Amino acid sequence: MIKLIFLGTSSGIPTKKRNLPSIFVMYKKDRMLFDCGEGTQRQLMIKKLKFVKISKIFITHWHADHFSGLIGLIQSMELEGRKEPLYIFGPVHTKKFTEQFISVGYFARRFDILVKEMKNEDVVDFGNYIIQSFEVKHRIPAIGYIFQEKKRINIDTKKLAKYNINKGPLIGKLKRNGFIEKDNTLIKLEDVSIAKNGRKIVYTGDTKYFPELEKYAEKADIFICDATFDDEYSKKAYIYGHCCASIAAKIAKAVNVKKLYLTHISRRYSEENKTDKIIQNQARQIFKKSYLARDLLEVNVR
Ligand SMILES: [Zn+2]
Ligand SMILES: [Zn+2]
Repeated sequence: MIKLIFLGTSSGIPTKKRNLPSIFVMYKKDRMLFDCGEGTQRQLMIKKLKFVKISKIFITHWHADHFSGLIGLIQSMELEGRKEPLYIFGPVHTKKFTEQFISVGYFARRFDILVKEMKNEDVVDFGNYIIQSFEVKHRIPAIGYIFQEKKRINIDTKKLAKYNINKGPLIGKLKRNGFIEKDNTLIKLEDVSIAKNGRKIVYTGDTKYFPELEKYAEKADIFICDATFDDEYSKKAYIYGHCCASIAAKIAKAVNVKKLYLTHISRRYSEENKTDKIIQNQARQIFKKSYLARDLLEVNVR
């Protein structure tokens, strides 16, 4: 299972209900953050998630709403005795920005911070999954990220039973080596397994519409798209480098996304003034499986 938790879903300024952008993703033993806005630590605490376990942070761009939580988080990691290196990924100038903010203040740091700047369509291989970056169109250099799980090989127990193999060490060997021999018969992994496409999560960060977004979002299980404004402000959205409700929904529909999550919500929308559902409602008229992301919302990707 891949677990995804929206820690912050506001845009430039937080609100009482929405923190600044950050998304937590848990995959097997890996814990990672996509963006790390101010207040991310408290959101992690509310969800009982340990700072020390986070090993990778992917920053979409160096607007303060997306990175202002980093300094405090790094200091807390130090106070909690982190030893393992922390990996920070981001667009051009990430090295410069990281060096600057880790030199702010007088706190010691006993773990390494390793930085990788990602260009358009760079891929980092993490074994069971890859992370691909893609350049988006914002007011400053910015990237989005694709989490793509590799093909999953599921053993088909019915097929296996034909060879009189039940669960046991032979299966482990089969998975490791790709074949086993039993009673002078060669059994190949592909004969007794089903390959399933890996799961895909796409996060745009801040961006206005551009045609390649469709290519990147294609067939995503979860497409998390900038939806700062509702359609009434579509021109403003474009000028400020953001998407709005129907644009996100049109992309999701065009490229067979399974679920669309709308995030980076402007503070003009709130429960108090009964405008919080506008964005979701507009998106749903085009693409039914559109959801307004909320802080602390958990999504399990099966
Ligand atoms: Zn932003
Ligand atoms: Zn921005």
